[in-house]
Amino acid sequence: MAGLLSRIQNGKADAHSDAPAGAFNAISRANLLESLEKSDLGWFWASDANGHLTYISSPAAQRVGKPVEEIIARPITEFFQPVEDTGGSGHERPLKFQLASRGSIKPVTVKLEMGNGHSWWEIAAVPQTDAAGNFAGYHGIARDVSDTYEAKQHAEKLSRYDSLTGLSNRHRMSHQLGATLTAFRASKRSCAIMLIDLDRFKQVNDTMGHPAGDELLKQVAARLKRVLGDAVEIGRIGGDEFQVILPDEDDRGVLGELGMRVIQMISQPYTINGLRAVIGCSVGIAVAPFDGIQEDELVKAADLALYSAKGGGRGQFRFYSSELRDKASHRHQIESDLRDALNREELEMHYQPIVDAKNHQVVCVEALMRWNHSERGMISPADFIPVAEEVGMIRELGAWALHKVCETVQTWPGHVRAAVNVSAVQFDADDFVDVVKQALRSTGIDPSRLELEITESVFVGDMERAFRLFNALKELGVRLSLDDFGTGYSSLGYLRDAPFDKIKIDQSFVRGCTAEDNKNDAIIAAVVSLARALGMETVAEGVETKDEMRAVTEQGATHLQGMLFSRAIPGAEILQRLEAGEIEFTPRGPEKYRSDRRTEFRKIGLIHGNDRYNVFLRNLSKTGAKVEGLLDVPVGTDIVLDLGGGQLAVARVRRSEGFSQGVEFETPLISDGADGLCTRHRVSPYQIEAAGRPLRALNDEAVAAITGAIRSGTKSFIQVEIGKH
Ligand code: C2E
Ligand code: CA
Ligand code: CA
Repeated sequence: MAGLLSRIQNGKADAHSDAPAGAFNAISRANLLESLEKSDLGWFWASDANGHLTYISSPAAQRVGKPVEEIIARPITEFFQPVEDTGGSGHERPLKFQLASRGSIKPVTVKLEMGNGHSWWEIAAVPQTDAAGNFAGYHGIARDVSDTYEAKQHAEKLSRYDSLTGLSNRHRMSHQLGATLTAFRASKRSCAIMLIDLDRFKQVNDTMGHPAGDELLKQVAARLKRVLGDAVEIGRIGGDEFQVILPDEDDRGVLGELGMRVIQMISQPYTINGLRAVIGCSVGIAVAPFDGIQEDELVKAADLALYSAKGGGRGQFRFYSSELRDKASHRHQIESDLRDALNREELEMHYQPIVDAKNHQVVCVEALMRWNHSERGMISPADFIPVAEEVGMIRELGAWALHKVCETVQTWPGHVRAAVNVSAVQFDADDFVDVVKQALRSTGIDPSRLELEITESVFVGDMERAFRLFNALKELGVRLSLDDFGTGYSSLGYLRDAPFDKIKIDQSFVRGCTAEDNKNDAIIAAVVSLARALGMETVAEGVETKDEMRAVTEQGATHLQGMLFSRAIPGAEILQRLEAGEIEFTPRGPEKYRSDRRTEFRKIGLIHGNDRYNVFLRNLSKTGAKVEGLLDVPVGTDIVLDLGGGQLAVARVRRSEGFSQGVEFETPLISDGADGLCTRHRVSPYQIEAAGRPLRALNDEAVAAITGAIRSGTKSFIQVEIGKH
């Protein structure tokens, strides 16, 4: 084509009068051009100095679907429309620049609108000049490249989008995030990312089949688009993992709310081929430049936050914080040591009494696993059970626990039962019923003394299997208890048909149920009356104070469990009490739960003017804090609390007594997704950079460098030494 082009480019070209000598003698140039024109190999066109068409090969005009006369004298841009940048290879120069420059038009793809659709042509042209040397228009060629162009576009789309959900794929997300972060760094803007991981998607996939899993993913994608809107980029970056890029967002209040909305939306039931499925999701959030500057650093931060959210239970969000990094290494340690824990006999079962609400006599105990690590001391099951689930060791631990508990209870006098926690991972295993059967048989325990605590999360995916298992377990004679009721996939519908003997109302409902404006008591009352109607017992978990005890008893809970009566104690102690006939547990503990204040005791910074002091944080609420360590600070003094991690809270002293001050925050703190509070905003690494330091994610040393300007000379307040008390 290029060779052909160079031959016609002189343009003066009246082909008839200018026949070449030599090899072309036998065939006239006119013939050659005419046969070419009639083929689909290529067509010719010409324009005048104003960009109006002066010539077009008639087969080309036919393609357009209009007679030549209607096309001639129309602007060429009316036919050859520039193709918008598709984010593809991008090395074609857009047509309009090429036209404006009046230079030669290098091959460029254009779109042709036709009566019944469109086609894609590649055009090229050389400029013509008149006798005076002025631009006189173009002589050009064109050919239809629709087939190859569309195939290429399709391939490009495939390489950038996830074919199942239509969301961006990992490749594109990574490209977009990298480009955004680089561009935003220059203009000192922030950008948040959110990682979303579906909880228990695998179960749906395994039990309902892959096509159902695919359908579920599509519905999840649609919901994400609905909650998050069009302004943000959403991608599927792994089987059931999604990523969202949120430009210019660093307000953790907004991000936390968005995270919660995503979780609520995803956790609503799905209908797939007429069947119901329920999943949950966890969300990890990290913000550039605070938590990471580069793409990999930011993604890693969000990953750690996500991991922590998953570890905290279902349906939670977390912000990244530097503590999570330390936790991650701790977790690796747990993982490697857990394998030896059983062999080294470092695991024990402790037992927490569950008492009758009427007379406070123990009727059942909950078996809770304890890991007494040879070097680290006690490790909480909340830390190691999730790891065991993840690395597949929970089945082994669970079987051991069942056996151990049956063996122990067998030696107890009377009828006190023991409840064993069953992880959803154990429940999913094919041999679960056999494992229970084996524990019963080998210890000879009366099956009705064994209770299995099962969480709502087993009501996911294959409900028929779940019910089959419930019934098989009931046939063995064991009791079933529904644990952590109300925290996850609550659906009252399944309760009616499930053969549970007991519902355990989660601690989160019991906690603070006596506070004003708290709707938990209404929820407890509702659960209790439902359970009563279904002939089930109800246990209020986590009762810590006397007023909580009175409240849940009043609502009608039949059984109580919590620190108020006893924490989990070794089996030998239970045995002792039972043998001595001491079956009543006296409530011992505080009268009232202070839901508004969390007791803390950590060192923080207090900034006043140019001075920075160290004080102790005694308690913290959304609206204020109590600090100790400065003597006689006048009421009304404006200060800033440095809560760590770049979190500065502007506050005013409202109460002051000796070395203790109550302060009120100018802007309330927000939930950090876990149990804590955090500030909406943090010191920006850009500010630290502006103070002459390199741009880095937040670290205490850099923050201290700009918040810790301590003026020499006398300070306004006297700092007193305070010990933990
Ligand atoms: P869970 O099943 O909800 O167990 C109740 C948890 O609440 C226990 O924590 C218990 O010590 C704690 N607790 C009891 N009373 C109170 C109270 O008044 N206030 C407060 N704040 N907490 C109270 P623990 O022992 O740390 O266990 C945590 C979780 O680990 C359990 O939650 C359970 O999900 C899991 N777990 C423990 N042992 C086992 C086990 O043998 N197998 C399995 N699969 N999971 C276990
Ligand atoms: Ca439990
Ligand atoms: Ca529980």
